Amino acid sequence: MIADIAVGDAGVKGLGLFAVRGFRRGEFIFRRRHGRILTNGQLGSLSREDRRHLCELDYDRSAVLLPPGCYLNHSCEPNAMRSGVKVFAWRRIAAGEEITIDYRLNAFGAERWSCSCGAASCTGEITGDFFSLPAERQREYMRFAPAFIQSEYRRRLATGELNLSKRVTVRRARGRRPRVARESGAGVF
Ligand SMILES: [Zn+2]
Repeated sequence: MIADIAVGDAGVKGLGLFAVRGFRRGEFIFRRRHGRILTNGQLGSLSREDRRHLCELDYDRSAVLLPPGCYLNHSCEPNAMRSGVKVFAWRRIAAGEEITIDYRLNAFGAERWSCSCGAASCTGEITGDFFSLPAERQREYMRFAPAFIQSEYRRRLATGELNLSKRVTVRRARGRRPRVARESGAGVF
């Protein structure tokens, strides 16, 4: 429920969402609300603030996230998971802990993001793409991923292409905000 979460200071990440009480693994936390849904071609009409709070729905559509869900930050080792708009505990979450999800769940493309999530496994720069995740992590996340990622996963599974994106040479993002970082309330994560 919304009453179980609070927006607070998440350090270098800017604002974040924090647990007001503890959550058991698998427990429902809250429902993230979508505002307007736009195609990629319409994104230029958004305010700078709305552009920071987008969630990609498929290859061509994004939703503007409404508060407080728009402040849910990324972590390479998240403690929460998202299935559509429902956010639930991926592992046990203590009261006061920042709630995080993995933005790669619905990310597609080969852009590199700088990441300051602070997780032990975080290299500080990650590829914003579901298929850049280790194969085991892809399997764990797959059933929560949006339909367009699931169908691409099944296609790659059938053709033996899984993890192919790891071998693609990608350019470093220069100045431009990483696409999925837009989901962050902070701009950096
Ligand atoms: Zn990270």
